[in-house]
Amino acid sequence: MQEKGSISIHSENIFPIIKKFLYSDHEVFLRELVSNAVDATQKIKSLGTLGEYEGDLGDLSIEIKIDKKKKTLHVIDKGIGMTGEEIKKYINQIAFSGATEFVEKYKEKGEGSGIIGHFGLGFYSAFMVADTVEIISLSREKDSKPAHWTCDGSTEFELKEGDKKERGTEIILHINDDSKEFLEEYRINEILTKYCKFLPIPIIFGETEETVKEGEGDDAKEKKVKKPKVINNTTPIWTKAPADLTDQEYKDFYKELYPFSEDPLFWIHLNVDYPFNLTGVLYFPKIKNDFDIQKNKIQLYSRQVFITDEVKDVVPEFLMLMHGVIDSPDIPLNVSRSYLQADSNVKKINNHITKKVADKLAELYKNDRKSFEEKWESIGLFVKYGMMSDDKFYDKAKKFCLLQSIEQDKYFTLDEYKESIAGNQTDKDGNVTILYASNPDKQHAYINSAQKKGYDVVLLDSPIDAHFINQLEQKLEKTNIKRVDADIVDKLIDKDEKAESVLSDDEKEKLKKIFEEAINNQSMTVAVEALSPDELPVSLTMPEFMRRMKDMQQTGGGM
Ligand code: ADP
Ligand code: MG
Repeated sequence: MQEKGSISIHSENIFPIIKKFLYSDHEVFLRELVSNAVDATQKIKSLGTLGEYEGDLGDLSIEIKIDKKKKTLHVIDKGIGMTGEEIKKYINQIAFSGATEFVEKYKEKGEGSGIIGHFGLGFYSAFMVADTVEIISLSREKDSKPAHWTCDGSTEFELKEGDKKERGTEIILHINDDSKEFLEEYRINEILTKYCKFLPIPIIFGETEETVKEGEGDDAKEKKVKKPKVINNTTPIWTKAPADLTDQEYKDFYKELYPFSEDPLFWIHLNVDYPFNLTGVLYFPKIKNDFDIQKNKIQLYSRQVFITDEVKDVVPEFLMLMHGVIDSPDIPLNVSRSYLQADSNVKKINNHITKKVADKLAELYKNDRKSFEEKWESIGLFVKYGMMSDDKFYDKAKKFCLLQSIEQDKYFTLDEYKESIAGNQTDKDGNVTILYASNPDKQHAYINSAQKKGYDVVLLDSPIDAHFINQLEQKLEKTNIKRVDADIVDKLIDKDEKAESVLSDDEKEKLKKIFEEAINNQSMTVAVEALSPDELPVSLTMPEFMRRMKDMQQTGGGM
């Protein structure tokens, strides 16, 4: 037996699921309603552009109001509006999206690209915080009658003629007892600032006081006047072309995102059309020490709506220390607008960001090496971390990864450095040995001995260096890397030369015993050589591999 049919949904069962489980965070209802108001406004603008709306667009700002007495919250737009029929079509049909319909209809005419809505579910998030929701709307259509829809959260609704005189829609939420917080100004402000700070249509909430001058000359008086307060910046810099922006504007925007922070070191403006759409500005913060590091400061937006500041997987792990904003409508969001980390676009975006950062660093290095060197203390951390975690990044970064020579007080690229030490620091097998110090104060004596021998020593003193050294040694051909105290100076670089000691073997053995007993530490090696009168007669050394094991354990294998 075979049968075909269509599956039906009982709205009285699906409704509570939408209300309770779709969104984990109740506050997002406001994001959804404001997004709808923005969409409605974008649509009327599009229709105006296309000549499909004849009337005057007028002021298009969106207003949010609280009425504490009536326990209502209002979201008012002057957008496209809805007729009674449209309310039945778009609102009463759960999961039917007028946004998607609009985009489909107008995409060939180049409109609709900024529309936020998609799934046709957002509106119902209002019932998470409201007992009853009203829609009062006047459509843009000529001679249409205003509509007034009311629903108490059951599957029954009421639709009648309303008395709205202005084009647009007002959504009224009768806030329920559990959600009284949403009748508090500070709370609404907080939510608007979080999700709506960069939406493209002005959003008004509350009032601000402005001082204006009245009268002329000496008679001029200052007067305070109240003005509607616009809470958003409708044209954040990532929506503009880099060529139109000054450095100061980038810095100001940084301050807007992170008030009270120091100027960033530099930034990267992302602007991609193909194969996915991505804009944004990523900033490199100044890092003075490792305790300063603040991860998770990058904000993810989709069409200027804030989504999250958990950008894991969208941004490579090693760049999580950067700050700034990424906006991509192509990061697939699920219905509750959290993003899908496993999606292939997410991986592509991640790769693209890595590439862009590498290119920017290469450009900085090339155009202004001096300033690049000055910033190396901060930049080096990203670069080393990146070189360890991503092979493609390694290949680009090896050209501008710097080593700092202690004696010469100078920076070298890896290639430059190897070349500069090649003769004197090549061992009998033809391998070049890079010597480094991790703590010049403590390793002072060893550095001195090495320098006396004509060896150069570089500084590798950050916590990440212990790991970075391993990586370098694997990647660099015919290169060893040793800390200056890894062995006595004559054996640091094995040149097959016989060291002539002024002590006899017997004397050496005795001295060695004395020191070993006094130190009593298995991981240290005591070497008694006394090669010449001005050399240290006894050195305490720790073989490179032993020390690395210890370093790894201490730093826990990561950052
Ligand atoms: P989505 O925005 O994903 O399409 P919603 O459930 O948020 O889904 O909204 C459903 C539909 O209702 C929208 O697509 C739109 O057609 C209509 N709508 C909602 N709010 C408004 C509004 N303020 N003005 C005009 N139309 C609206
Ligand atoms: Mg919506």
